[in-house]
Amino acid sequence: MPISNAVVGRLAPSPTGAQHLGNARTYLVAWLAARSRGGRLILRIEDIDSPRVKPWARQQALDDLRWLGLDWDEGPDVGGPHGPYVQTQRVPHYEQALQRLVELDLAYPCDCTRKDIEAAASAPHQGHEGPVYPGTCAAWRPGDALPQAGTFCWRYRTSDRELAFDDPVAGTQRANPARDLGDFPLTRKSGEAAYQLAVVVDDAAMGVTEAVRGDDLIPSTFRQLELFAALELTPPRFIHVPLVCGPDGRRLAKRHGDSRLDHYRQAGVQPERIIGWAAASLGLAERPEPIAASELVETFALDRIRTERVIVQPNLFG
Ligand code: GLU
Repeated sequence: MPISNAVVGRLAPSPTGAQHLGNARTYLVAWLAARSRGGRLILRIEDIDSPRVKPWARQQALDDLRWLGLDWDEGPDVGGPHGPYVQTQRVPHYEQALQRLVELDLAYPCDCTRKDIEAAASAPHQGHEGPVYPGTCAAWRPGDALPQAGTFCWRYRTSDRELAFDDPVAGTQRANPARDLGDFPLTRKSGEAAYQLAVVVDDAAMGVTEAVRGDDLIPSTFRQLELFAALELTPPRFIHVPLVCGPDGRRLAKRHGDSRLDHYRQAGVQPERIIGWAAASLGLAERPEPIAASELVETFALDRIRTERVIVQPNLFG
């Protein structure tokens, strides 16, 4: 296999809970996409969502990934030139980017509550993910007074233009950020960076060329493309994999039964069974027979990935 330094992928678990089957399937694609082209992988812990972060979940995510047979070249446990690899340790990077966006008049302080937004957003203005921000605070300009610290978030001023990107799995995606998504938070009211800002700053700083993730994040990709452009950073290629759903067609969750990887690990399920199921559900193997992730590297191709949502039955692995 030709060794290329060109492809840099990432595994980016959020330690907000246990990793489950759906995560495993997406990580497998991210890992194969990089490894099949001799690329490198970065493991990054996305722990800025502090109210929901669980202290035990970080190590468990690393253990789950290794148990699945997935590895990485840089990360909090192995080090590397782009560290730290834990978002809560990267705060100065996010602050610098935020400052730049404020200077560019692309961010404004917003002290609206969720209720304010729901009340002000008119029905025709529903976006893909709840109400589009109605622009209540958007008149602020650099130099204007700031609301009291702790009472406002910084919000990004989205642009009113058509954006498109070619996703090799999900196909061409289009949206107008201002119309379809609305101005979005760059920080929380506590000042902590929000996911959109942190992920853009990190992907750029870590030289990530390919971001593989669940297709529930397609709307976020447009927000992130806005930020990459504003900060004059190069975006990775975005690849969105269909989510795994329960028998009711809804995103795999606790109510569908225990699909935590840790649960299977403790129960003595062989990781090759999980990989075999994931590979078959992705269209990378004919049947869900046990197989090691490493055995899938040679035949992997993004254009083999099935684009239908996958339904799993509870207790698939007993
Ligand atoms: N940390 C996110 C998650 O676990 C992934 C974010 C991303 O891939 O951009 O869902």
